[in-house]
Amino acid sequence: QEAQNAGEHWRVYDPTKLEATEWRVSMLGELDAAIDNGEVWVAFQPKLDLLSGEICGAEALVRWTHPEKGPINPEEFITAAERHDRIEKLTDHVLNRAVQVAASLNTAGRRFDMAVNLSPRLIGHANLKPMVIQTLRRHGLPAERLILEITETAAMSSADAAMQELRDLRSLGLQLSIDDYGTGFSTLDYLKRCPATELKIDRSFVKMLVSSRSDRIMVNSTIELAHSLGEEVVAEGVEDNETLHLLAQMGCDKAQGYLIGRPMPFEALIDYLANYSPAKAA
Ligand code: C2E
Ligand code: MG
Ligand code: MG
Ligand code: MG
Repeated sequence: QEAQNAGEHWRVYDPTKLEATEWRVSMLGELDAAIDNGEVWVAFQPKLDLLSGEICGAEALVRWTHPEKGPINPEEFITAAERHDRIEKLTDHVLNRAVQVAASLNTAGRRFDMAVNLSPRLIGHANLKPMVIQTLRRHGLPAERLILEITETAAMSSADAAMQELRDLRSLGLQLSIDDYGTGFSTLDYLKRCPATELKIDRSFVKMLVSSRSDRIMVNSTIELAHSLGEEVVAEGVEDNETLHLLAQMGCDKAQGYLIGRPMPFEALIDYLANYSPAKAA
């Protein structure tokens, strides 16, 4: 939240915030190098198909392990990268690694969908579509196996141009997911016009699903609505078995969360997939 206002902090005299802003700006100078030298890497969080009980894919989540400062909060450096024109390079890096991993997993006789988070700031960016096409081609991954996750923003919900950009991306054959659905700027109008194939219910609705009647109503209605629109539903932030069962009962298609698996390095994902059996998740 605070990071979103990074640009404004220079004008406000607040020593603690100023310090944080300076730290972010100095850190940005290191980001380019960090991408090139391997400090910035990609973790993979498995995604469970609730119908088959199988792992159907993963979400790529960027990580920055700084040699002195340790792991840096992704939301913090992503927001900073967005503000200071570094998001294209960062996205290219994550997309390339994610598609490479997806290609390696899809050739082993398994269907594996890879989700990559896309900053809304890149929607409408001239380089975005060529970047996606080139990356898929480089690794030989069919577009259908790639999911782009996008959170709605105020700007996008009102812009026809943004919807056209999304349709244009969809025309490549890839899947589109509305991330963190139910929070922020998601309106029915947006849902109606967005050419999404998947809706990802925000963790805040999933967290207390078992105990909260109103959350159950929200999630149930969202599942019905999405299905009526021909979209699949993923629940994020599933941390316990009761919630997982309830989601399956409600007809939710997929689930993701610490219960199923934490974001992990590629090598750990390979072990995870090799040791996974559907019975464990049920
Ligand atoms: P997101 O796309 O909604 O990703 C889900 C976040 O929830 C991840 O945090 C993940 O580690 C966390 N999570 C997953 N399961 C659970 C759970 O069961 N419990 C709890 N408490 N948390 C869970 P992370 O990795 O810190 O990422 C935060 C956000 O940063 C992401 O939210 C996404 O918006 C953004 N992000 C991450 N990687 C990228 C990237 O490569 N590009 C862009 N543009 N954004 C990214
Ligand atoms: Mg996401
Ligand atoms: Mg999310
Ligand atoms: Mg999020």
